[in-house]
Amino acid sequence: MPERGRFAPSPTGLLHLGNARTALLAWLDARAGGGAFVMRVEDLDRARVQAGAEAQQLEDLRWLGLDWDEGPDLGGPFAPYRQSERSARYDAAVDRLLAEGRAFPCACSRADVARAATAPHDGDAESEPRYPGTCRGRDPAQVRAQAAAQGRAPAVRFDGGGARIAFLDEICGTAEGEVDDFVLRRADGTAAYQLAVVVDDASMRISRVVRGGDLLRSTPRQIALGRALGLPIPAFAHVPLVVTAHGERLAKRTRPPSLRSLREPGRTAASLVGALAASAGLGDGSPLRPRQLLADFALDRLRREPAVVALDQPANTSG
Ligand code: GLU
Repeated sequence: MPERGRFAPSPTGLLHLGNARTALLAWLDARAGGGAFVMRVEDLDRARVQAGAEAQQLEDLRWLGLDWDEGPDLGGPFAPYRQSERSARYDAAVDRLLAEGRAFPCACSRADVARAATAPHDGDAESEPRYPGTCRGRDPAQVRAQAAAQGRAPAVRFDGGGARIAFLDEICGTAEGEVDDFVLRRADGTAAYQLAVVVDDASMRISRVVRGGDLLRSTPRQIALGRALGLPIPAFAHVPLVVTAHGERLAKRTRPPSLRSLREPGRTAASLVGALAASAGLGDGSPLRPRQLLADFALDRLRREPAVVALDQPANTSG
């Protein structure tokens, strides 16, 4: 069966330079092997989703020269391709994990977890406080009653048990991490990213996940969850992140240029693709179409360090 890759943007704003580079590399990985490429819109976080962002993102990716075989705009055998339309599948997975004792209801609010947490997870100040296991092992009926008394439904957490999972990442090599009691379904009933991504990658028959290096630390959780659900585990390749000229990781705070803003008069998609590719160690930076990179593409040729994208100045169109 041919390989199947995907790109899974969250329509919370415009795609930035780093997203564009990840999309290009995921597309190259799928297409170089003659595989299919799937576009999936990860729009579960309703508070952050922006109207119109999905259409803008897809349009920007097409401008760049990428194409896909299945997606929210094209349909396909595993539709729907928007997570907001797939909640029945996520609920079925949560119900199954609850029934099999692999998940448990949790009545703790965010503030409860923050108060009870002793240290930030893995010493990373950016990550959520570590869940101290408050509701694990409690009688689920009591947990539900406690949440109801506070006017809420319980969240559902995976019983990770602190297992350590190691895996071979096709870019980063051996990686390892702990599986905590992460949230599967929030108190408001929405599936959490970790659950949705695992259910969707399996049900859309994704065999290769090429995505940003910021998600490397989520992968042990996703592998543990996939195993608990008896699902096939895809191959993973986490691409090094784009950094600013000062070495800072691209984030809202560093105001990375959006793909849309780079589509100024005088800058062609080919010149941007050339720069994105060169930052990943492919080509010499001269303008090219994505498909011109296919013949020589291999993940093991990619640069492994965080990269700066050297943008040309748009050519002067007036003269
Ligand atoms: N929706 C996630 C993001 O935009 C990507 C998730 C994934 O590739 O697994 O960061």
